[in-house]
Amino acid sequence: MRYVSTRGRAPVLDFTDVLLTGLAEDGGLYMPESWPVFSAPELRALRGLPYAELAARVMAPLVGEAIKFNDLQAMCRRAYTGFAHPAVVPLVQLDTNIFALELFHGPTLAFKDLALQLVGHLFEHALAARDAHVCIVGATSGDTGSAAIAAMAGRTRIDITILHPEGKTSEVQRRQMTTAQAPNVLNLAVAGNFDDCQDLVKAMFGDAKFRREMRLSAVNSINFARIAAQIPYYFAAALALGAPDREIAVAVPTGNFGNVMAAWAARQMGAPISRFIVASNRNDILWRFLTKNDMRVQGVEPSLSPSMDIQVSSNFERLLFEFLRRDAAQTTEILTNFRLNGHMAVPEANWRAIQRDFTGFRLDDAATLARIARTYREAGYLVDPHTAVGLAAAHECGPIGLPVVVAATAHPAKFPDAIEKAVGFRPALPAALADLYERDEKFTRVGNDLAAIQALIRRFADRNDK
Ligand SMILES: *Cc1c(COP(=O)(O)O)cnc(C)c1O
Repeated sequence: MRYVSTRGRAPVLDFTDVLLTGLAEDGGLYMPESWPVFSAPELRALRGLPYAELAARVMAPLVGEAIKFNDLQAMCRRAYTGFAHPAVVPLVQLDTNIFALELFHGPTLAFKDLALQLVGHLFEHALAARDAHVCIVGATSGDTGSAAIAAMAGRTRIDITILHPEGKTSEVQRRQMTTAQAPNVLNLAVAGNFDDCQDLVKAMFGDAKFRREMRLSAVNSINFARIAAQIPYYFAAALALGAPDREIAVAVPTGNFGNVMAAWAARQMGAPISRFIVASNRNDILWRFLTKNDMRVQGVEPSLSPSMDIQVSSNFERLLFEFLRRDAAQTTEILTNFRLNGHMAVPEANWRAIQRDFTGFRLDDAATLARIARTYREAGYLVDPHTAVGLAAAHECGPIGLPVVVAATAHPAKFPDAIEKAVGFRPALPAALADLYERDEKFTRVGNDLAAIQALIRRFADRNDK
C-alpha cells in the first residue's frame, strides 16, 4: 500500500515510513492511495475472531508489504494481551438500540491505548529493522501523554519526552505519566497551558538542526498508523451487530477527529456504517460546521470533557480531502486560507455531501452531568463525561431503527470529580491502578522556555554516554 499526502507535494511512502514520519513534508496528512475493501463474504469470515486476530486482518491490507503478516499478527497479540477485558473492546447494551463500545480497558483507561499500544510495537519493529533510535516528543492535556508513555516505557530504541501543563491535567492523568519508572521517559511539567506546550513542541520540530540531531518523532493523532489501529474496533462492533447484513450508526465523542475518521475509514473498507454522529462539548466548532457550514476558530473553553476541548480538529483535513474527491490543490487552498483568516470555506455541494453522512451534536456541562446521572439511574451503568456526550448524541440524533454504537472513550474512574458531581460518589480505579495514588512521581519542572527544554532533552539523550 502506498500513502499520499492530502497536500499532494510530499513523497509517496509505505506504511512504515508513514509511521516514522508522521506529518508529511508539505504540511499535509498521509492517506492510503485507495481504500482496501472487504466484500460481504470476507466480512462474514471475520465474525467471531478474537480481537487481536481481527485487528491484524483488518489492518493487513493497509500495512501492505511493509510488514509481514505473521509479524503484524504477533504485534497485535502482544499489544492487546495487557487489556483488562478478554474481549478487549466489549460491546454493552444500554437501551433498545444503543450500545457502548468500551474502548477503555487498556493500561491508561482511555481509547488511545488501542492505537498506541500497537504503535509502540510497530515503532520498535521498524527501528530494529533499521538499527535506528528516535526521540519522541509530544504535548498533552492528559490522555495522549499517558497512553504514549505507557506504550513506549522501557523500549530501548525510543526515548520519550512529554510536556504537560503543570497543574492543568487531572491527578489521575498526571500520575499515569509521572509514575512510569522506565529510564527512557522524561516528563516535563511546563509553567503554562496546553497551547504553550503544543507551541513548544511545534517549535522543536521547526528547528531543523535540533530535529535532525535528536531524530525527533511524533505519535500524535495525525499519524496515520494511529488511525489504522482504530479501524478494527469499528469492524468488531459492526460484526457483533450483524455485519454485513445489518447497518449501524456510530456516535463518537470528538476532539481532533481521529476516532470518528477511523469509523469513516471502516465504512470505506466495507463495514456497514450508515451514519456518523460527531459529538462535541461546548467547544463546538464541528457542530457549527455540520449544522451551518460555519467552521470558525474561537477560543477554547475548559469543560468536563477536557480531551474534547479543541479549537481546530487536525484530522478533519483527511475528511475534507476525501470529500473534495482527493483534490490536493483545493485541499491546500482551503486549509491555507483557514490558517490565515480562521474561517474554512467549504463549497456548498461538498458540505452537503458531508452532511449526508455526518450529524453534528453539542452538549454543555450541565447536560453532561445529567446524562451521567440518568444513565446510572436507568441502566445501572457509569459513563465518563466524554462518553456521556456521545451517549446523549446517540439518544437525541440516532437514526430510527438502527443500532447506534457509542464509542466509550474513557473509564469513569479517570474523571472522578465529574462522576462525583453527577452521582455523589467517586468510582474506584480498576485493580491494575489501585495503588496509583501511592506510587512515586518523577517529573521536571520547567518554564515556558524553548532553549531550557531543548537543553533538558539533549541532556536526557546523553545520559547513557557519560
Ligand atoms: C482523545 C480523546 C477524545 C477525542 O478523540 P479524537 O480522536 O481526538 O477525536 C475523546 N475522548 C477521550 C476520553 C479522549 O482521550
